[in-house]
Amino acid sequence: MNYVSTRGAGADEHHSFSDILLGGLARDGGLYLPAEYPQISTEELARWRGLSYADLAFEILSKFAGDIPAEDLRDITRRTYTGETYRNVRHGEDASKITPLTTLGVENGTTLSLLELSNGPTLAFKDMAMQLLGNLFEYALAKAGQELNILGATSGDTGSAAEYAMRGKKGVRVFMLSPHKKMSAFQTAQMFSLQDPNIFNLAVEGVFDDCQDIVKAVSNDHAFKAQQKIGTVNSINWARVVAQVVYYFAGYFAATKSNDERVSFTVPSGNFGNVCAGHIARMMGLPIEKLVVATNENDVLDEFFRTGIYRVRGSAETYHTTSPSMDISKASNFERFVYDLLGRDPARVTQLFRDVEEKGGFDLVASGDFVRVKQFGFVSGRSSHDDRIATIRDIYSRYKTMIDTHTADGVKVAREHLQPGVPMIVLETAQPVKFGETIREALDREPERPAAFEGLEALPQRFEVVPADAQRVKDYIAAHTAH
Ligand SMILES: *Cc1c(COP(=O)(O)O)cnc(C)c1O
Repeated sequence: MNYVSTRGAGADEHHSFSDILLGGLARDGGLYLPAEYPQISTEELARWRGLSYADLAFEILSKFAGDIPAEDLRDITRRTYTGETYRNVRHGEDASKITPLTTLGVENGTTLSLLELSNGPTLAFKDMAMQLLGNLFEYALAKAGQELNILGATSGDTGSAAEYAMRGKKGVRVFMLSPHKKMSAFQTAQMFSLQDPNIFNLAVEGVFDDCQDIVKAVSNDHAFKAQQKIGTVNSINWARVVAQVVYYFAGYFAATKSNDERVSFTVPSGNFGNVCAGHIARMMGLPIEKLVVATNENDVLDEFFRTGIYRVRGSAETYHTTSPSMDISKASNFERFVYDLLGRDPARVTQLFRDVEEKGGFDLVASGDFVRVKQFGFVSGRSSHDDRIATIRDIYSRYKTMIDTHTADGVKVAREHLQPGVPMIVLETAQPVKFGETIREALDREPERPAAFEGLEALPQRFEVVPADAQRVKDYIAAHTAH
């Protein structure tokens, strides 16, 4: 399998999965994609139906990572997707299912269900990919005799998923910046209670944007970056996207009895990483009818899928909402879909994303490209705070199921796209306990808390407060990577 950049640089070079695993953007600023999508035969699909999650992950990963020896990849996927890591804390069912499907009920002549993706250690779907990434990184670094220092900024979900994936991993350190005293008590405790010596929590005296600016400043210091072996784990990482392809297959098998059936997925979306994996599953031949993109008030993607106009937002137009992990101003993985939509034309992709930088967006209606969006199954919708509250209430009273705010955005939009006879699977992206304040507003009661998280906020915390100053962060990193 060869990988290419959406902007075309190095088209005559060969890039393997391992080559791009530890990196971020391609050097031309594009994103990596496989040179072609592997096609799944009907025999394979029939055989995969009976596999465990870990073995399904192995089959799918081996289509994309042929340069990793099969026995090594088998070991990595089996160690990652175990019931020990993905405790099915809510239903006490067989934990080895990893991503159980919960049927809510029948609406408009079809079943509406939730695919549980938040049974991992940080109770959000980012664990699904990040746990695999931790094991892949450790494996690749040991093989190359290298070390990696991950630098990131977080306002919640990504940072904790990265820390729980990398804790205790050989050759990796994590330096995670978060805005001091700005995260919820639960999220703060999740991150700061980690005592592993390779995890460094830096509480920055500032807001999330200050944290991001520091990461950018450090990354732009190329000498420092090379010397300290600085890397990232952001959502454009290809291995994260491909790890997510697996649960679209698992969800399909759980919702159907035969491979002649089709299903639709609704995906609470921010950076387009999750739904991009659905697009790839569909391109591989998984019988997906519709991919429904659900956004919150930050509706960049909904606007595109309704109108054909992609318009990124400035900071004044980016809202802090009660589904905060979807609060984005532009969707960093969207370029991967645009590349496919335009028939894989890197020159046009380069021009369009130059227009994003210079003019704030682009319009695919006039060029005639937008009509083809339908062929890719995409539709969309938007949800607001009031919708979220009403949906959490409705699902709780109707089906006795408590859902989080992001999943509520998904359910709200899914209901606008139900088709009789086509099961609708909403991807459940977090557990309600992470967003307790909104649950209390909606239901006037405390969110359900998995037993393992009792008393979390009382555990001793380990973190360092630093000023919003890139040089101070660099000094801290240098002092903690010296041998
Ligand atoms: C990150 C996140 C999302 C958005 O996923 P993208 O891949 O950025 O589209 C949705 N819900 C939750 C809970 C998240 O943590």
